[in-house]
Amino acid sequence: MRNCEVCEVLKKDLDVIFDSKHWRVSLDATDQYYLGRSFVTAKRHVDDLAELSKEEWEDLRSVMKKFETAVRGAFGAILFNWSCLMNGSCQEKPYNPHVHWHVRPRYDKKVIVAGEEFADNEFGHHYARSTSRTVEPKTKAEIIKSIQKFL
Ligand SMILES: [Zn+2]
Repeated sequence: MRNCEVCEVLKKDLDVIFDSKHWRVSLDATDQYYLGRSFVTAKRHVDDLAELSKEEWEDLRSVMKKFETAVRGAFGAILFNWSCLMNGSCQEKPYNPHVHWHVRPRYDKKVIVAGEEFADNEFGHHYARSTSRTVEPKTKAEIIKSIQKFL
């Protein structure tokens, strides 16, 4: 079996916002175009949503609620776009997907964090696909801290 890149990332504890029993929530430091964009990743190597246990689904529901409540509290997000894609794991054989969600908080107004402005120019429409916005380290730390304050 080819090494799983997602399992490797999980070992590094990068930009973790919080953990539950079965899921890790971490900020997507490579793209904060949608403020608070994060990954929610299964802690075990599981390759398909249909293979999640009932307990993992229940835990996921709690994680979604906890994350959404915190990001609403921190930045006033209106809604959340959740997507489970895993296409990158199928670019070479043997395919080796690992269940994770991309979550993009959506906003109807501009938000400023540590002096940086975030605007959701597509609000009310599908999220833009080709975004990439890194932020200053102090801004990243402030985003994580602000969300954690509402956990
Ligand atoms: Zn994995």
